[in-house]
Amino acid sequence: MSLVGKNIDAFCSRCRLQLAHIVLYEVGGAVHRVKCKTCGCEHRYHGPRPEKRREVPAERRPGRETSRMLRPVRPVDARQWEQRKASTTSDAVVWDYKWTENYEKGDVVAHPQFGRGFVEKVATDSMEVLFREGRKQMAINRRPEMNGEDKA
Ligand SMILES: [Zn+2]
Repeated sequence: MSLVGKNIDAFCSRCRLQLAHIVLYEVGGAVHRVKCKTCGCEHRYHGPRPEKRREVPAERRPGRETSRMLRPVRPVDARQWEQRKASTTSDAVVWDYKWTENYEKGDVVAHPQFGRGFVEKVATDSMEVLFREGRKQMAINRRPEMNGEDKA
């Protein structure tokens, strides 16, 4: 049964109101194009009223820690990391990361979990390292509690 020629309530994009329309075309049984009986303009059928924003599913709501934890590698950090890696000569010294050690800006470190990293900023007891998965604050220059100490 065709709806063409029948009246249908639709949102008129010109009148900006829900108004009676006449069905002009159907596609696959769905109303495709209508004519506003008020202003006479022909336009696509938008449904009874403009699409309201759907309720965001709970797990997609912003501010939940889970969505932040699962967030993928920030492209900018990964690209910077690739650039740093490419500009590092193959004979560059790679230091094993240890929180008791001291590092300098520009040092290349190897972290057991995060892999290769490039030291970008150094403070007294922490440094910022660019890893492939992003920048991280790493502890440095901390004293071992038990072991006999070297000089800092
Ligand atoms: Zn209209």
